[in-house]
Amino acid sequence: MTSEADNIIRVLRPRLPQAAALAPYLQRIDDSRIYSNYGPLNAEFTRRLGELVGGSHVTLTSNGTTAIELALRLRAKHSAGLCLMPAFTFIASAHAVCNAGLTPFLLDVDEQSLTLTPKIAEAALSLASEKVSAVLVVSAFGAPPDITAWADFERRTSIPVVFDAAAACTALSGIREQPMCVSLHATKALGIGEGGAIFSADPDFSARAKAMTGFGFEGVERVSTLRGGNYRISEYTAAVGLAALDGLPTRLAQMRDLTAAYAHRLAGKAARLQRGAGTEWVTMTLNVIVEPEEVAPTIQRLDEAKVEWRRWWGPGCHKHPAFADAPRLDLPVTDALAPRVIGLPFHDGLSPAHLDRVAHCLK
Ligand SMILES: *Cc1c(COP(=O)(O)O)cnc(C)c1O
Repeated sequence: MTSEADNIIRVLRPRLPQAAALAPYLQRIDDSRIYSNYGPLNAEFTRRLGELVGGSHVTLTSNGTTAIELALRLRAKHSAGLCLMPAFTFIASAHAVCNAGLTPFLLDVDEQSLTLTPKIAEAALSLASEKVSAVLVVSAFGAPPDITAWADFERRTSIPVVFDAAAACTALSGIREQPMCVSLHATKALGIGEGGAIFSADPDFSARAKAMTGFGFEGVERVSTLRGGNYRISEYTAAVGLAALDGLPTRLAQMRDLTAAYAHRLAGKAARLQRGAGTEWVTMTLNVIVEPEEVAPTIQRLDEAKVEWRRWWGPGCHKHPAFADAPRLDLPVTDALAPRVIGLPFHDGLSPAHLDRVAHCLK
């Protein structure tokens, strides 16, 4: 029997490693009887994550939001003050800034890259009402950020840069001193359920960040040398991470193929994907960017065709009640752009006929 519901094309159906792939790792936990506190599976997952990005120090964290929070706490120039950040981002970015004791100063984004640029940030410096302690640069849905340009910004302005590259874990290389925070949430390309990581080329930063994940203990003594908390992942979570890394090449190939299948169907249409999506990097939150006058008709067609869609980042941080009072500059690009960025179905249950049905809704 087919119900109405079966006919809906879902927007996202995460798939994490299955029980059989986890079994050998779970057996190792049974044998070691080490369940958390930087055990052997944590160590191996840390090492393999560093290799994934071409060599980097790695600090595992409980999730992507806490990765950003810890990086900002360590790097901000002052323990309070403003943190420059784009208004167009997932709302977690703003929560992390506030949890780090800073005040989000919401800036506009560049229409092409969907991101904050050094130029926009630099222009905002003279308009800030308080001292600026840091800038949080957000990767647009998994596109790798311009590490060199932002390292130059930091050198010119002395404002510490932290990257929220939450969805970009599988697209990173050339990590420098500016911490690169990623999420390993189930909905990201490398998903482990809940988890996060901070990549950095600075061994001292990474050692301190790691200490902050475990009550500020550095070395073997149970002496707290800096303030942090419990931001660890357990050995069970690391087991999922190791199994996810084992399956990653296959998964990335599937994601590239699916993105290419969409790109093929969008050829000749005004609706477009983000630059580099599917060729230079992949994302689970594949967006189509539609022309302003096509927003309402596109949504109507998707709804009528029973194609689920989502605005993954919503309308901008300034539109959320919790952050309505955050200081900000004018946000004309964010306001115009946010409604046009529409998340499409992206998972391993989509047939060519499903993709045709989605593409048919896009002009
Ligand atoms: C997913 C995401 C986060 C939050 O990561 P969690 O692991 O869910 O805490 C933060 N910022 C951006 C841009 C994200 O996409």
